[in-house]
Parts: sequence; C-alpha cells; structure tokens
Amino acid sequence: MRNYRYLFSSFFIAMLLILACDPDDDSSDETNHTITVDDTKIDRKVLIIGIDGFRSDVMNLTSTPFINDLIQNKNTYSNINHIAEGITYSGPNWSSILTGVHMDKHNVLNNDFDNDNYSEYPSFFHYISSADSSKKTASIVNWIPINTYLMSDYADYAPLNYINDSEVLEHTKNLLLNDNPINTDVIFIHFDELDATGHAHGFSGDVQEYVDKANQLDSYTSELYEIIQNKRLNGEDWLLMVVSDHGGEGTSHGDANNPNINRTIFISEHPSVEFQAGCCYFSSQADIGPTVLNFLGITSTKFDESTDGYSIILN
Ligand SMILES: [Zn+2]
Ligand SMILES: [Zn+2]
Repeated sequence: MRNYRYLFSSFFIAMLLILACDPDDDSSDETNHTITVDDTKIDRKVLIIGIDGFRSDVMNLTSTPFINDLIQNKNTYSNINHIAEGITYSGPNWSSILTGVHMDKHNVLNNDFDNDNYSEYPSFFHYISSADSSKKTASIVNWIPINTYLMSDYADYAPLNYINDSEVLEHTKNLLLNDNPINTDVIFIHFDELDATGHAHGFSGDVQEYVDKANQLDSYTSELYEIIQNKRLNGEDWLLMVVSDHGGEGTSHGDANNPNINRTIFISEHPSVEFQAGCCYFSSQADIGPTVLNFLGITSTKFDESTDGYSIILN
C-alpha cells in the first residue's frame, strides 16, 4: 500500500512539471519565429513622408513640380493608382501603411482606433528594433492619433503634443540635421493640412486652396529631399518614400467606390535599387512595411507570415 501511494504522488508531481512546461504557451510561440539581418543593408536609412488626403490627379507639373520632377528624372517606383483600404478613412489606411497588413487583420475600421489588433499585428517598426536594438526610429505626426494609438508603442521617439505641418517639417529637419533629440535611422512623418484643406474647400485640382496646399507640401518634400541628398553625398544610404492614405471628392472621402478617393499616390526613390516597374505592379497600403524591411535587410518569419504586402524592391 505504501508503494502505491509513493508511485501515485510521484506521478502527480511529474504531471505538475509537465503542465508547468506547457509547450503551447505564448513564449514558445515567439521562440518559433526568427529574425535575420543582412549586415550589408542594416545600416541603411529610410524617410517616409506621409501626406494625408492626396488626390492623385493633383500631382502634376504645376501643383507639385518637385514630386513630378522626382518621378520623371530619378530612379523611382511611382503609382498614382495606389490602392487604399476598403474603408477610406485615415485610421484604417495609416494603420495598414504602418503595419503591413490590411484592415481585416489590424482591425482599425474608423478614426477611433477602438478594438485594434496591434498586439498581433504591430507596426513594422517593432521588427526593426527586434532585429537590431541600436536602430532608432521616430514618428512625427500632425494627426496625433497615429502616435497615441499606434506608433508610441513602437518608435523610439513619437511626440504626442499637437503640431502643425510646418512644425512637423521643423521637427524632422532637426532630427535629420542635428540628431535632435535622437540620432534616427528610420523616420515616419505625417502632414495633415492637405486633408484639412480638402474638407474645408474641396479635394480638387480646380480648388485653388487645395492646389496651393499641395504646392506647399511639395516644397516641404523638396526641402527634405535636399537634406537626404546631402546625406547620400556623405555616404549615408537613404530610401525616400512619399505616400498618402486616400484621395477625396467634394469635401469628403467617405465613398470607397470612387476612384478619386480609393486611389492615391505612392512614390519610392533611391539612387540605385531596382524597383518594380510602375506600369505593371499596383501597390497597396500593405506594401510599405515589407519594402522598408527588405531595404534594411531584415527578414522576420513572423512578419512574413502576417503581412499582406510585397516589397517593391527587386534586389
Ligand atoms: Zn486621411
Ligand atoms: Zn479627412
């Protein structure tokens, strides 16, 4: 009888140990995934310029001469039929741009950011710091919910105070030129005043206020490009992106069936990488994340399993 009792208690202790080492718990899920880094690419740098509410047909020689010249005369991928999410609000689209998945996964379906699934589908900035914790990232935005709900969890620097577009520009120049407040490798910035001008006066090439604001943001982009070009001359290897979340019609952008709304702009510029041909590959919001990670030589099995996008860089 004593032997049976001994056997039973040994069995019970063994079961407890097995339960304590449950192989299905979350931590082992993480350890099944790997991140690898290409040492020849990890020191590269990226600037992503987000312009809210950019209607594609307003990008032309007169409204946006700098961006127009960039597309015509530099090595770029450019798409004026860049595909917005099925809900053409800012929240779903910036979420897709910054996570690399469509809205059915990140679950941001409006501008309230309620019920987001960022814990499962974090910003791609998460994979940059996971790959190399010395890489520093920043997110400077006019529309604060982007940082409040999404980027403050993943960027090293993501201020939460309201700033206007010219202050976004000054903050970004301060980061690029003075490493103030930190020395950054990957920067996302967001200008909101083109969208605000569209809501106030109309999203159209026939509306002078909208054209003037597009022209101002074109010159902001030109100023930042100048800084990037100087850095390239000093040996830094930068990728520049310009992307928008949706277009507009009249004074709104709610009709997701309208091509002036559900199509917008995406441009990627680099002196030498080989991009997909603009004629033949139609980018979506989910492509920004995979492209940035590819450019930086970061391969995450978890991100690759999750993302809905494709890198527009071929080599
Ligand atoms: Zn928007
Ligand atoms: Zn809007």
